[in-house]
Amino acid sequence: MAVRVAEEWLATCGGCEVTLLDVGMPLLDLLPSLEFVHMPVIMDHKYYGQTGEQEGLEIPEADVGLISGSVHNKENRHVAEEMRKKCKTLIAVGSCANYGGIPGMNNLFTVAEIAKVVYQDTPSTDAAPMPTNEIPGLEDRVYAVSEVVKVDLKIPGCPTPPEMLAEALTCLLEGKEFKLEERSVCDECPLKREKKAVTFIKRPLESVEFIPGQPLQEVRCFMEQGFFCQGPATRSGCGGSEKVPRCIKAYMPCRGCFGPIREGANPMVDMMGALSSIGLNPREIPDRVPTFNRFIGAQNRLRPSMGRR
Ligand code: SF4
Ligand code: SF4
Ligand code: SF4
Repeated sequence: MAVRVAEEWLATCGGCEVTLLDVGMPLLDLLPSLEFVHMPVIMDHKYYGQTGEQEGLEIPEADVGLISGSVHNKENRHVAEEMRKKCKTLIAVGSCANYGGIPGMNNLFTVAEIAKVVYQDTPSTDAAPMPTNEIPGLEDRVYAVSEVVKVDLKIPGCPTPPEMLAEALTCLLEGKEFKLEERSVCDECPLKREKKAVTFIKRPLESVEFIPGQPLQEVRCFMEQGFFCQGPATRSGCGGSEKVPRCIKAYMPCRGCFGPIREGANPMVDMMGALSSIGLNPREIPDRVPTFNRFIGAQNRLRPSMGRR
């Protein structure tokens, strides 16, 4: 019998849904074993019945539930709770679902501050009060899905790599355990390290030093070149079976989208240590609290007072 899969998106950009659609050949192999019973990105399924006839929000029962996006408003919370109720195994997909992701940056501000900017202060807006009718109210802050309901499996990344999602689904179908590695992006990075850096941190808009076509092994570590690279404090795995971190392969420093190396780790502390160890001063990094926590602002890592430091 096919495994029933439900998928939902909360506060999300849709990128993690594109990942699912982009799994490619492995998904074709998996398709005979899967039955998608609910997936707003590709199928029309009204929460309250096709004509709104149902009293309560309802999602079909499923063996596996996939949720992307963070919990930012009351509707997100309601949908996450219904998914938990209806899905035997619940998987949080992507950095938003697991750590707050980019929407988690909202946690630097109070709801009132956000409403003032969005509905009153932007130059293109005719100032008006925040609407309260027929739209779901905002939560007091942005939550990771696991702060709202129990999550069985967490797959990070912004977006989650298709290969990793396929591997997790395959493990589930075969009854095997899917485990994330507790290693850093640096552990998989092929760039050349000399254990000493230039003495100042460069602006992110400057280009890293490399010769086009040069093998990655001959390019100097971006942090040693003076760029802020979050590889030392970020979980590995974005490079898939090729084991070359995605951004590094594109000659870009890591921005930390895979989140902490292990549950409970503090990337900000890890990064301060890594920068200091090669002679760079973490205090030179502008907006360092949001920069260190760019993808992980839920779980109380970012708070309103921090926005004004
Ligand atoms: S993790 Fe990234 S790609 Fe996925 S929904 Fe969030 S912002 Fe979009
Ligand atoms: S700091 Fe960045 S560039 Fe340097 S080794 Fe780590 S991941 Fe690679
Ligand atoms: S290199 Fe860093 S920012 Fe880039 S995809 Fe990997 S974990 Fe994410």
